[in-house]
Amino acid sequence: MCGIIGYIGHQQVQNILIDGLHRLEYRGYDSAGIAVLEGGEIGLRKKAGRVQELGQLVSEQPLQGSMGIGHTRWATHGEVNDANSHPHLGGDGEVCLVHNGVIENYSKLRKALQAKGYEFHTATDSEVIAHLLAFEVKRLKEDGDSEGQALYVNAIQSTLVQLKGTYGLAVLFEDCPDKLFVARVGSPLVIGIGENEHFVASDASPLAGHTDEVVYLSDNEIAILSAGDLQIIHRDAGAVNPKIEVLDQQAADSELGDFPHYMLKEIFEQPQTIENAMRGRFNDDEATAVFGGLNLTAQQLRRIDRVVLTACGTSWHAGLVGEYLLEEFARIPTEVEYASELRYRNPPMSENTMIFAITQSGETADTLAAMRECKRKGHPTLAICNTVGSTIAREADGGIYLHAGPEIGVASTKAFTSQVTVLTLLALFFGRMRHLSYPAGSRIISHLREIPELVEQALKCNEMCKYVADKYYNSNNFLYLGRLYNFPVALEGALKLKEISYIHAEGYPAAEMKHGPIALVDEQTPSVFVVPRCGIYPKVISNLEEVKARKGPVIAIACQGDDKIAELADDVIFVPDVEEYLQPLIASIPLQLLSYHIAVLRGCNVDRPRNLAKSVTVE
Ligand code: GLU
Repeated sequence: MCGIIGYIGHQQVQNILIDGLHRLEYRGYDSAGIAVLEGGEIGLRKKAGRVQELGQLVSEQPLQGSMGIGHTRWATHGEVNDANSHPHLGGDGEVCLVHNGVIENYSKLRKALQAKGYEFHTATDSEVIAHLLAFEVKRLKEDGDSEGQALYVNAIQSTLVQLKGTYGLAVLFEDCPDKLFVARVGSPLVIGIGENEHFVASDASPLAGHTDEVVYLSDNEIAILSAGDLQIIHRDAGAVNPKIEVLDQQAADSELGDFPHYMLKEIFEQPQTIENAMRGRFNDDEATAVFGGLNLTAQQLRRIDRVVLTACGTSWHAGLVGEYLLEEFARIPTEVEYASELRYRNPPMSENTMIFAITQSGETADTLAAMRECKRKGHPTLAICNTVGSTIAREADGGIYLHAGPEIGVASTKAFTSQVTVLTLLALFFGRMRHLSYPAGSRIISHLREIPELVEQALKCNEMCKYVADKYYNSNNFLYLGRLYNFPVALEGALKLKEISYIHAEGYPAAEMKHGPIALVDEQTPSVFVVPRCGIYPKVISNLEEVKARKGPVIAIACQGDDKIAELADDVIFVPDVEEYLQPLIASIPLQLLSYHIAVLRGCNVDRPRNLAKSVTVE
């Protein structure tokens, strides 16, 4: 995780770095720091805590200069404190770097460096890179075989070959005052090209307002940035021609506006983001969906005999909805695999198994690794992804963008409903290629077209969610229960609550409850039943009665007009009535709002929950 920012150019760098870190803070917020190189000296300010606190520090002790690097940390190695904050110095302070990723062999490298006399000041894995670089620079200087830029590039290359793990790096060398070096394996970096200035960042959000021309760095590439020049070298292939792309991201999308939190803003954006996920993707004449970027012929698509959806966290829950949709409408056997498992498993997969990697950020380390593994075995791999230009979007054979705009709140909301929308379109698309009739396809399209308006109506339950939150926010345990399409909704509801309010919550298929979780039911444990009208409504009601019989408080998410439920449940949150297969798009809304209000009432930091970060770029 973590956010990296770097700048070299003609402007004073301090505020550029601090502003950039604010935009990257969703990636990690254990600590923050910046380093500025000026007059052959590296100035360093770093601190545990938020970027705001770092901002305070640098306003009291400013740094002058027009090249520098910055970092917001999500700690993997070494506790959260000032010393372990990045940037880190190497040697006697002649090298300074920021690192995103994990160095798996750091312990061995650290011992070897200590034996050579290098003194460590932090408990991080990252510090070994700084000392290794210092050592390699010293060694090359003593050899006398290279000088200038070549010497530093050689030092970086001979350092990187010793590292096992993942890294995005931005490095300053005290003796090389007009160049900023960056490198990556497994952690994202994007370079921004300005007028006589260059930027580097973990994602494009800090570049908005500075430049819209970017180059995405690929694995095993090293970039050398100076104010007026950009060079890229690949470890094995030598010089690379930078491929410049134009960003269409609007800085305004990342602004909070009148909302107190990004999460609430993003919940309320969903009528629009669901609309965006569908825009231009209906073909009414053929009663199907169309996608611009699948990059596969109709023949290849028809040959698909199995689908594997791979993802982590919330995206995995969207995948589970996708499984139900694809099996119901396209009749394609579908499985959902945790990417962290799939990457190391070797399940039998027919040649015609298609892989979909589902990810908001497009950088999730496990999802990327699982996708690469499947690709290596010859399967067509497609991405369902929000972030344009992200690693997974670029490496997949093709894909579908969510067009949900930046999601800043760490707990995913709008990306989830956009993923489910895209998966519904996919089920329609594959269904119409196979068994689904024209009228059935047309019906799905007209139902989907109504969804943004119905989500708008569902959002009106906000006040009721606040009321229910107020009643139950002191509970220590929650159960979330639903069946069929609402089972993944229950899982996602429980995850949302855990993530932002730190309350223990379990999601289950409602009927599974009696095989164990019912033992948790007591007067203090509310059960949230996701029970909109459906084919097995009476069965879910029986499950609900089983909880009531044990004095468990019941909160029901039910369809408007369901009079019966009010007699059974302690509290009911009503949402508009939709077809069963579309219920996840509607029933998720009150669960998002409920978690949000409970977290606010408990005084939790909704957008920056403890121990989490938005884009999980470490294993
Ligand atoms: N492994 C490094 C650390 O714990 C970097 C973590 C990150 O990517 O934020 O400091």
